[in-house]
Amino acid sequence: MPQTYDIAVFHGDGIGPEIMRPTLDILNALAAASGGYRLRFTDAPAGAAHYARTGDALPETALALARGADAILLSAMGLPDIRYPDGTEISPQIALRKALTLFAGVRPVTVRAGQRTPLNLPPDREIDFVLIRESTEGLFHTQGRGEVSDTEARETLLITRDISEQLFRFAFDMARSRKEDGRGPGRVTCVDKANVFRAFAFFRGIFDEEAARHPDLTADHAYVDATALWMVTRPWDFDVLVTENMFGDILSDLGAGLMGGLGLAPSADIGADHAVFQPCHGSAPDIAGQGVANPFAMILSAAMMLDWLGTRHGNEALNADARRLRRAVETVVRDSAALTRDLGGTASTQQAAAAVGAALEAV
Ligand code: NAD
Repeated sequence: MPQTYDIAVFHGDGIGPEIMRPTLDILNALAAASGGYRLRFTDAPAGAAHYARTGDALPETALALARGADAILLSAMGLPDIRYPDGTEISPQIALRKALTLFAGVRPVTVRAGQRTPLNLPPDREIDFVLIRESTEGLFHTQGRGEVSDTEARETLLITRDISEQLFRFAFDMARSRKEDGRGPGRVTCVDKANVFRAFAFFRGIFDEEAARHPDLTADHAYVDATALWMVTRPWDFDVLVTENMFGDILSDLGAGLMGGLGLAPSADIGADHAVFQPCHGSAPDIAGQGVANPFAMILSAAMMLDWLGTRHGNEALNADARRLRRAVETVVRDSAALTRDLGGTASTQQAAAAVGAALEAV
Protein backbone atom coordinates (compact mmCIF):
# COMPACT_ATOMS: atom_id res chain seq x y z
CA MET A 1 0.00 0.00 0.00
CA PRO A 2 1.57 3.33 -1.02
CA GLN A 3 2.18 5.90 1.68
CA THR A 4 -0.48 8.63 2.04
CA TYR A 5 0.70 12.20 2.66
CA ASP A 6 -1.63 14.71 4.31
CA ILE A 7 -1.63 18.10 2.63
CA ALA A 8 -3.25 21.14 4.28
CA VAL A 9 -4.65 23.37 1.52
CA PHE A 10 -5.13 27.12 1.92
CA HIS A 11 -7.20 28.21 -1.10
CA GLY A 12 -6.70 31.87 -0.21
CA ASP A 13 -8.17 35.03 -1.66
CA GLY A 14 -8.65 36.64 -5.07
CA ILE A 15 -7.19 34.39 -7.78
CA GLY A 16 -6.08 31.92 -5.05
CA PRO A 17 -8.92 29.40 -5.45
CA GLU A 18 -8.79 29.74 -9.26
CA ILE A 19 -5.17 28.56 -9.47
CA MET A 20 -5.41 26.06 -6.61
CA ARG A 21 -8.27 24.04 -8.15
CA PRO A 22 -6.45 22.97 -11.36
CA THR A 23 -3.25 22.41 -9.38
CA LEU A 24 -5.00 19.90 -7.11
CA ASP A 25 -6.48 18.20 -10.19
CA ILE A 26 -2.98 17.78 -11.64
CA LEU A 27 -1.61 16.45 -8.34
CA ASN A 28 -4.49 13.97 -8.06
CA ALA A 29 -3.87 12.76 -11.61
CA LEU A 30 -0.13 12.37 -10.95
CA ALA A 31 -0.68 10.42 -7.73
CA ALA A 32 -3.26 8.15 -9.37
CA ALA A 33 -0.93 7.40 -12.30
CA SER A 34 2.15 6.90 -10.12
CA GLY A 35 0.90 4.33 -7.65
CA GLY A 36 3.97 5.20 -5.55
CA TYR A 37 2.22 7.59 -3.15
CA ARG A 38 -1.16 9.05 -2.28
CA LEU A 39 -2.09 12.63 -1.39
CA ARG A 40 -4.97 13.52 0.96
CA PHE A 41 -5.99 17.19 0.71
CA THR A 42 -7.79 18.96 3.56
CA ASP A 43 -9.04 22.55 3.23
CA ALA A 44 -7.80 25.02 5.82
CA PRO A 45 -10.00 28.13 6.02
CA ALA A 46 -8.02 31.37 6.40
CA GLY A 47 -7.34 34.67 4.68
CA ALA A 48 -8.86 38.10 4.12
CA ALA A 49 -12.31 36.95 2.98
CA HIS A 50 -12.42 34.55 5.92
CA TYR A 51 -11.51 37.42 8.24
CA ALA A 52 -14.29 39.57 6.77
CA ARG A 53 -16.79 36.77 7.44
CA THR A 54 -15.59 35.61 10.85
CA GLY A 55 -13.22 38.21 12.35
CA ASP A 56 -10.43 35.61 12.38
CA ALA A 57 -7.74 35.56 9.66
CA LEU A 58 -6.04 32.32 10.74
CA PRO A 59 -8.30 30.20 12.96
CA GLU A 60 -6.70 27.83 15.47
CA THR A 61 -8.25 24.91 13.59
CA ALA A 62 -6.45 25.93 10.38
CA LEU A 63 -3.16 26.35 12.23
CA ALA A 64 -3.61 22.94 13.89
CA LEU A 65 -4.33 21.39 10.50
CA ALA A 66 -1.15 22.97 9.11
CA ARG A 67 0.88 21.72 12.07
CA GLY A 68 -0.44 18.19 11.67
CA ALA A 69 0.00 17.98 7.89
CA ASP A 70 2.95 16.48 6.03
CA ALA A 71 3.07 19.62 3.86
CA ILE A 72 1.12 22.81 3.31
CA LEU A 73 -0.02 24.10 -0.06
CA LEU A 74 -1.05 27.72 -0.11
CA SER A 75 -2.19 30.07 -2.84
CA ALA A 76 -2.15 33.82 -2.33
CA MET A 77 -3.84 35.49 0.64
CA GLY A 78 -4.79 39.07 1.42
CA LEU A 79 -7.00 41.70 -0.22
CA PRO A 80 -6.09 45.40 -0.21
CA ASP A 81 -9.60 46.47 0.83
CA ILE A 82 -9.82 44.17 3.86
CA ARG A 83 -7.61 45.33 6.71
CA TYR A 84 -7.18 45.14 10.46
CA PRO A 85 -8.31 48.18 12.46
CA ASP A 86 -4.67 49.44 12.55
CA GLY A 87 -4.67 49.65 8.75
CA THR A 88 -2.34 46.70 8.08
CA GLU A 89 -3.31 43.90 5.72
CA ILE A 90 -4.40 40.39 6.57
CA SER A 91 -1.41 38.11 5.89
CA PRO A 92 -1.79 34.66 7.46
CA GLN A 93 1.04 33.41 5.24
CA ILE A 94 3.45 35.56 7.28
CA ALA A 95 1.86 34.40 10.55
CA LEU A 96 2.36 30.78 9.40
CA ARG A 97 6.06 31.42 8.71
CA LYS A 98 6.54 32.64 12.25
CA ALA A 99 4.27 30.08 13.95
CA LEU A 100 5.97 27.13 12.21
CA THR A 101 9.49 28.67 12.21
CA LEU A 102 9.84 28.45 8.45
CA PHE A 103 13.25 30.10 8.31
CA ALA A 104 14.24 29.23 4.73
CA GLY A 105 12.32 30.99 1.97
CA VAL A 106 13.34 29.14 -1.18
CA ARG A 107 12.93 31.07 -4.45
CA PRO A 108 14.18 29.22 -7.55
CA VAL A 109 15.01 31.44 -10.52
CA THR A 110 15.05 29.59 -13.84
CA VAL A 111 14.98 30.83 -17.40
CA ARG A 112 15.13 28.03 -19.98
CA ALA A 113 15.89 28.40 -23.67
CA GLY A 114 12.88 29.93 -25.42
CA GLN A 115 11.43 31.45 -22.24
CA ARG A 116 10.62 35.16 -22.38
CA THR A 117 12.88 37.27 -20.19
CA PRO A 118 13.58 41.00 -20.12
CA LEU A 119 17.28 40.09 -20.34
CA ASN A 120 19.07 39.85 -23.65
CA LEU A 121 20.43 36.38 -22.83
CA PRO A 122 23.12 34.90 -25.09
CA PRO A 123 21.53 31.94 -26.91
CA ASP A 124 23.71 29.40 -25.11
CA ARG A 125 22.80 30.71 -21.66
CA GLU A 126 20.11 29.50 -19.29
CA ILE A 127 19.50 30.75 -15.77
CA ASP A 128 19.11 28.27 -12.93
CA PHE A 129 19.85 29.44 -9.41
CA VAL A 130 18.11 29.45 -6.04
CA LEU A 131 17.73 32.38 -3.71
CA ILE A 132 17.24 31.45 -0.05
CA ARG A 133 15.68 34.21 1.98
CA GLU A 134 15.72 33.95 5.77
CA SER A 135 12.04 34.38 6.60
CA THR A 136 11.51 34.72 10.36
CA GLU A 137 13.77 37.53 11.56
CA GLY A 138 16.11 40.12 9.95
CA LEU A 139 14.43 43.46 9.31
CA PHE A 140 11.01 41.84 9.67
CA HIS A 141 11.71 41.23 13.35
CA THR A 142 9.65 44.18 14.56
CA GLN A 143 7.01 43.87 11.85
CA GLY A 144 3.85 45.50 13.19
CA ARG A 145 5.73 46.66 16.32
CA GLY A 146 7.96 49.43 14.95
CA GLU A 147 8.14 52.56 17.11
CA VAL A 148 6.80 55.64 15.38
CA SER A 149 6.58 59.16 16.81
CA ASP A 150 6.02 62.53 15.15
CA THR A 151 9.74 62.96 14.64
CA GLU A 152 11.20 59.50 14.05
CA ALA A 153 10.50 55.85 13.34
CA ARG A 154 12.50 52.77 14.39
CA GLU A 155 12.51 49.13 13.36
CA THR A 156 15.00 46.57 14.67
CA LEU A 157 16.96 44.08 12.58
CA LEU A 158 17.57 40.79 14.37
CA ILE A 159 20.04 38.09 13.34
CA THR A 160 20.29 35.08 15.66
CA ARG A 161 22.98 32.42 15.73
CA ASP A 162 20.42 29.63 16.03
CA ILE A 163 18.37 30.55 12.95
CA SER A 164 21.46 31.55 10.93
CA GLU A 165 23.12 28.18 11.60
CA GLN A 166 19.99 26.33 10.46
CA LEU A 167 19.66 28.61 7.43
CA PHE A 168 23.25 28.11 6.26
CA ARG A 169 23.14 24.34 6.85
CA PHE A 170 20.02 24.27 4.69
CA ALA A 171 21.76 26.33 1.97
CA PHE A 172 24.82 24.04 1.83
CA ASP A 173 22.59 20.93 1.77
CA MET A 174 20.69 22.44 -1.13
CA ALA A 175 23.90 23.23 -3.04
CA ARG A 176 25.04 19.63 -2.54
CA SER A 177 21.78 18.17 -3.76
CA ARG A 178 21.75 20.50 -6.80
CA LYS A 179 25.32 19.44 -7.59
CA GLU A 180 24.33 15.77 -7.36
CA ASP A 181 21.42 16.50 -9.76
CA GLY A 182 23.81 18.20 -12.21
CA ARG A 183 22.08 21.56 -11.72
CA GLY A 184 24.93 23.58 -10.22
CA PRO A 185 28.65 23.57 -9.32
CA GLY A 186 27.96 23.30 -5.56
CA ARG A 187 28.50 26.92 -4.59
CA VAL A 188 26.82 28.96 -1.86
CA THR A 189 27.04 32.75 -1.86
CA CYS A 190 26.31 34.66 1.32
CA VAL A 191 24.61 37.95 0.34
CA ASP A 192 24.97 40.64 3.00
CA LYS A 193 26.16 44.15 3.80
CA ALA A 194 29.03 43.11 6.06
CA ASN A 195 31.11 46.09 4.97
CA VAL A 196 28.73 48.49 6.74
CA PHE A 197 26.74 46.72 9.46
CA ARG A 198 28.06 44.72 12.41
CA ALA A 199 24.94 42.52 12.31
CA PHE A 200 25.93 41.39 8.83
CA ALA A 201 29.53 40.79 9.83
CA PHE A 202 28.04 38.47 12.49
CA PHE A 203 25.82 36.84 9.82
CA ARG A 204 28.85 36.34 7.56
CA GLY A 205 30.94 34.94 10.40
CA ILE A 206 28.36 32.22 11.07
CA PHE A 207 28.21 31.52 7.33
CA ASP A 208 31.99 31.00 7.26
CA GLU A 209 31.80 28.60 10.21
CA GLU A 210 29.21 26.52 8.33
CA ALA A 211 31.22 26.74 5.09
CA ALA A 212 34.22 25.18 6.87
CA ARG A 213 32.07 22.08 7.52
CA HIS A 214 31.56 21.58 3.77
CA PRO A 215 35.01 21.34 2.15
CA ASP A 216 33.43 19.59 -0.86
CA LEU A 217 31.45 22.75 -1.70
CA THR A 218 32.49 26.30 -2.61
CA ALA A 219 31.53 29.24 -0.43
CA ASP A 220 31.81 32.91 -1.28
CA HIS A 221 30.36 36.31 -0.33
CA ALA A 222 28.71 39.18 -2.17
CA TYR A 223 27.32 42.51 -1.08
CA VAL A 224 23.61 42.86 -1.70
CA ASP A 225 23.91 45.92 -3.93
CA ALA A 226 26.47 44.20 -6.19
CA THR A 227 24.28 41.08 -6.20
CA ALA A 228 21.36 43.09 -7.62
CA LEU A 229 23.67 44.23 -10.44
CA TRP A 230 25.03 40.73 -11.13
CA MET A 231 21.55 39.21 -11.13
CA VAL A 232 20.96 41.35 -14.22
CA THR A 233 24.41 41.25 -15.87
CA ARG A 234 25.50 37.62 -15.29
CA PRO A 235 22.75 35.68 -13.52
CA TRP A 236 23.96 32.36 -14.98
CA ASP A 237 26.97 32.50 -12.63
CA PHE A 238 24.91 31.97 -9.46
CA ASP A 239 24.09 28.63 -7.84
CA VAL A 240 22.69 29.07 -4.30
CA LEU A 241 22.36 32.53 -2.76
CA VAL A 242 21.49 32.91 0.91
CA THR A 243 20.49 36.18 2.52
CA GLU A 244 18.62 38.15 5.18
CA ASN A 245 14.83 38.56 5.12
CA MET A 246 14.45 42.07 3.65
CA PHE A 247 17.30 41.68 1.15
CA GLY A 248 15.73 38.38 0.07
CA ASP A 249 12.30 39.95 -0.20
CA ILE A 250 13.59 42.48 -2.71
CA LEU A 251 15.97 40.20 -4.63
CA SER A 252 13.29 37.52 -5.03
CA ASP A 253 11.05 39.94 -6.93
CA LEU A 254 14.04 40.83 -9.10
CA GLY A 255 14.41 37.09 -9.71
CA ALA A 256 10.73 36.84 -10.64
CA GLY A 257 11.28 39.72 -13.06
CA LEU A 258 14.12 37.81 -14.74
CA MET A 259 11.73 34.91 -15.25
CA GLY A 260 9.31 37.09 -17.17
CA GLY A 261 6.99 37.87 -14.28
CA LEU A 262 5.41 36.71 -11.07
CA GLY A 263 3.20 34.18 -12.86
CA LEU A 264 6.20 31.83 -13.24
CA ALA A 265 7.79 32.29 -9.81
CA PRO A 266 7.25 29.46 -7.31
CA SER A 267 8.41 29.39 -3.71
CA ALA A 268 8.68 27.35 -0.55
CA ASP A 269 9.02 28.38 3.09
CA ILE A 270 10.80 25.55 4.86
CA GLY A 271 11.62 24.89 8.50
CA ALA A 272 12.93 21.92 10.44
CA ASP A 273 9.51 20.22 10.72
CA HIS A 274 7.10 21.99 8.35
CA ALA A 275 6.99 23.53 4.91
CA VAL A 276 4.60 25.81 3.01
CA PHE A 277 4.59 25.86 -0.79
CA GLN A 278 3.09 28.88 -2.54
CA PRO A 279 3.55 31.11 -5.57
CA CYS A 280 5.53 34.32 -5.05
CA HIS A 281 2.66 36.46 -6.32
CA GLY A 282 -0.29 37.85 -4.40
CA SER A 283 -4.05 37.45 -4.80
CA ALA A 284 -4.16 39.69 -7.93
CA PRO A 285 -7.56 41.24 -7.14
CA ASP A 286 -7.40 43.19 -10.42
CA ILE A 287 -7.94 39.98 -12.43
CA ALA A 288 -9.75 37.79 -9.87
CA GLY A 289 -12.93 36.10 -11.08
CA GLN A 290 -12.01 36.41 -14.77
CA GLY A 291 -10.47 32.96 -15.20
CA VAL A 292 -7.28 34.43 -16.70
CA ALA A 293 -4.80 34.01 -13.83
CA ASN A 294 -1.58 32.21 -14.65
CA PRO A 295 -1.54 28.88 -12.74
CA PHE A 296 2.12 28.02 -13.49
CA ALA A 297 3.69 29.51 -10.34
CA MET A 298 1.17 27.56 -8.24
CA ILE A 299 1.82 24.35 -10.21
CA LEU A 300 5.61 24.82 -9.92
CA SER A 301 5.20 25.36 -6.17
CA ALA A 302 3.31 22.05 -6.03
CA ALA A 303 6.28 20.45 -7.84
CA MET A 304 8.58 21.83 -5.13
CA MET A 305 6.28 20.24 -2.55
CA LEU A 306 6.51 16.82 -4.23
CA ASP A 307 10.30 17.16 -4.31
CA TRP A 308 10.52 18.13 -0.65
CA LEU A 309 8.20 15.31 0.44
CA GLY A 310 10.13 12.81 -1.69
CA THR A 311 13.49 13.77 -0.22
CA ARG A 312 12.16 13.95 3.33
CA HIS A 313 10.46 10.56 3.18
CA GLY A 314 12.89 8.81 0.82
CA ASN A 315 10.11 8.30 -1.75
CA GLU A 316 11.66 8.55 -5.24
CA ALA A 317 8.22 8.35 -6.91
CA LEU A 318 7.50 11.82 -5.53
CA ASN A 319 10.84 13.21 -6.73
CA ALA A 320 10.27 11.71 -10.18
CA ASP A 321 6.84 13.34 -10.45
CA ALA A 322 8.28 16.67 -9.27
CA ARG A 323 10.78 16.53 -12.13
CA ARG A 324 8.06 15.58 -14.65
CA LEU A 325 5.78 18.37 -13.49
CA ARG A 326 8.57 20.94 -13.77
CA ARG A 327 9.48 19.69 -17.23
CA ALA A 328 5.83 19.77 -18.32
CA VAL A 329 5.49 23.46 -17.36
CA GLU A 330 8.83 24.24 -19.04
CA THR A 331 7.63 22.52 -22.22
CA VAL A 332 4.39 24.52 -22.32
CA VAL A 333 6.30 27.77 -21.74
CA ARG A 334 9.02 26.92 -24.29
CA ASP A 335 6.48 26.01 -26.99
CA SER A 336 4.23 28.98 -26.07
CA ALA A 337 1.54 26.29 -26.16
CA ALA A 338 -1.04 27.84 -23.82
CA LEU A 339 0.18 31.02 -22.21
CA THR A 340 -1.98 33.33 -20.13
CA ARG A 341 -2.20 37.08 -20.74
CA ASP A 342 0.66 37.98 -18.37
CA LEU A 343 3.02 35.89 -20.54
CA GLY A 344 1.76 37.39 -23.78
CA GLY A 345 -0.82 34.69 -24.61
CA THR A 346 -4.60 34.43 -24.62
CA ALA A 347 -5.14 31.16 -22.71
CA SER A 348 -7.46 30.92 -19.73
CA THR A 349 -6.32 29.49 -16.40
CA GLN A 350 -8.03 26.21 -17.27
CA GLN A 351 -6.48 26.01 -20.74
CA ALA A 352 -2.98 26.70 -19.37
CA ALA A 353 -3.39 24.04 -16.68
CA ALA A 354 -4.85 21.57 -19.21
CA ALA A 355 -1.78 22.12 -21.42
CA VAL A 356 0.45 21.14 -18.49
CA GLY A 357 -1.70 18.02 -18.00
CA ALA A 358 -1.27 17.16 -21.68
CA ALA A 359 2.49 17.84 -21.60
CA LEU A 360 2.81 15.45 -18.65
CA GLU A 361 1.86 12.60 -20.97
CA ALA A 362 4.98 13.31 -23.05
CA VAL A 363 7.66 13.95 -20.42
P1 NAD B 1 -0.01 40.72 -6.82
O1 NAD B 1 1.14 39.77 -6.96
O2 NAD B 1 -1.29 40.14 -6.38
O3 NAD B 1 -0.27 41.42 -8.25
C1 NAD B 1 0.70 42.23 -8.91
C2 NAD B 1 0.40 42.22 -10.42
O4 NAD B 1 0.74 40.94 -10.96
C3 NAD B 1 -1.09 42.44 -10.73
O5 NAD B 1 -1.22 43.20 -11.90
C4 NAD B 1 -1.61 41.04 -10.96
O6 NAD B 1 -2.72 40.97 -11.85
C5 NAD B 1 -0.39 40.34 -11.56
N1 NAD B 1 -0.38 38.91 -11.19
C6 NAD B 1 -0.04 38.36 -10.00
N2 NAD B 1 -0.18 37.04 -10.05
C7 NAD B 1 -0.61 36.73 -11.27
C8 NAD B 1 -0.94 35.51 -11.93
N3 NAD B 1 -0.85 34.33 -11.31
N4 NAD B 1 -1.38 35.57 -13.20
C9 NAD B 1 -1.46 36.74 -13.86
N5 NAD B 1 -1.17 37.93 -13.31
C10 NAD B 1 -0.74 37.92 -12.02
O7 NAD B 1 0.48 41.89 -5.87
P2 NAD B 1 -0.36 43.06 -5.21
O8 NAD B 1 -1.37 43.59 -6.19
O9 NAD B 1 0.65 43.96 -4.63
O10 NAD B 1 -1.14 42.38 -4.00
C11 NAD B 1 -2.50 41.97 -4.03
C12 NAD B 1 -2.86 41.34 -2.71
O11 NAD B 1 -2.10 40.14 -2.51
C13 NAD B 1 -2.55 42.24 -1.53
O12 NAD B 1 -3.59 42.15 -0.61
C14 NAD B 1 -1.25 41.67 -0.96
O13 NAD B 1 -1.10 41.89 0.41
C15 NAD B 1 -1.44 40.20 -1.25
N6 NAD B 1 -0.16 39.46 -1.36
C16 NAD B 1 -0.14 38.20 -0.89
C17 NAD B 1 1.00 37.42 -1.02
C18 NAD B 1 0.99 36.01 -0.51
O14 NAD B 1 -0.05 35.47 -0.22
N7 NAD B 1 2.14 35.38 -0.41
C19 NAD B 1 2.13 37.95 -1.66
C20 NAD B 1 2.07 39.25 -2.17
C21 NAD B 1 0.90 40.00 -2.03
